[in-house]
Amino acid sequence: VLRFVPVRNVLLIAFATLAVLWFASPWIAGAADALLNRVHTDAQAPPVPAESAGLHARLRVVDLHSDATLWARDLLVRNTRGLVDIPRLRDGNVALQLFSATTRHPLFSNYSRTPAHPDVVTLLAIAQRWPMRTWFSPFQRARFQAGRLHDATARSGGELRVVRTSQDLASLGALRPDYPVVGGVLLLEGMHATGRSLARIDSLFADGYRVFGIAHMFDNKVGGSAHGWHQGGLTPFGKRAVARVDSLGGIVDLAHASRAVIADVLALVSRPPLVSHTGLVSACAGPRNLDDADARAIAARGGLIAIGFWEAAVCGRDTATIARSLRRARDLVGIEHVAIGSDFDGAVTTPFDASGMVELTASLRHEGFSDEEVAAVMGENAWRFFSTWLPVR
Ligand SMILES: [Zn+2]
Repeated sequence: VLRFVPVRNVLLIAFATLAVLWFASPWIAGAADALLNRVHTDAQAPPVPAESAGLHARLRVVDLHSDATLWARDLLVRNTRGLVDIPRLRDGNVALQLFSATTRHPLFSNYSRTPAHPDVVTLLAIAQRWPMRTWFSPFQRARFQAGRLHDATARSGGELRVVRTSQDLASLGALRPDYPVVGGVLLLEGMHATGRSLARIDSLFADGYRVFGIAHMFDNKVGGSAHGWHQGGLTPFGKRAVARVDSLGGIVDLAHASRAVIADVLALVSRPPLVSHTGLVSACAGPRNLDDADARAIAARGGLIAIGFWEAAVCGRDTATIARSLRRARDLVGIEHVAIGSDFDGAVTTPFDASGMVELTASLRHEGFSDEEVAAVMGENAWRFFSTWLPVR
């Protein structure tokens, strides 16, 4: 048969296929965005009572985790796909959003035991026409995503501000609520992006990153992931890396960290860590979620635990389930350590998008939270945490 298929024809077909893929790939990436970052179509939220809407309008909402900078969308316009952009953050009365940079995501990711290869962000970077330097470098992808937030900020006419210091946060607070400006804090989701390089940590800090997640879905040269192959603690280099983050004024994110890494980080840092998006095993069993003992240990160090909005974090598809996990967190570690971390745009389906945050305020009141407790969970705890622990200048 091969005799009748000249090499030239095979090459032509391969070339044509690649060309079609190349030209279609932005559309494919957009379709993936629309498919992966969605609101549950069966989510039937009860109407929001006027008292809850009134309370929500007075809140300072802080969401500790969104992957919006990963996708080819303009943050400044209202998009028809995905879950986060500035118009929707304003609708949701969100004052501060942590923008997390996902820089590498293994194809065979799972919550139990994930091999590091192969990586799908490589395909996404190429399909979305990111600069070539990002195609094979998680470090460059982190720099590029920071650049996207800075670029959106520069074009926003003051509607978006990047928060690097406690002074930045104070001036943001002084502008709100009269002028609904949204603040953004950069979060690195996994220090595989820095590899074994303290200079790269310095460089990303200079780009504005203030929160550093140790690992994402797989073990790296800094430390083990809760979903990794070995799930070990901090490596010897990892201890130096975490000390560097801490001395620069950065905050460690323990989301996705192995239990050994949680213990190692707690023993090492001067600034309390946060967990930017998680569930609690005692509210929703599963390998993605935080054990009660670890949650207590993080809170005892002054840390912040942010509950996520997606099904594997809370074991349900509706807003009431998120509120019940937040109630469990309050009862376990104390109200002052509880926050929210949606994971919007992190390839998750949620009951509402950024514009629908008021639904959670209503659900929390329904679960018996006082107005002060609602305010604390929805943002005041996180605001106080960043006021205290971001570098002063
Ligand atoms: Zn994550």
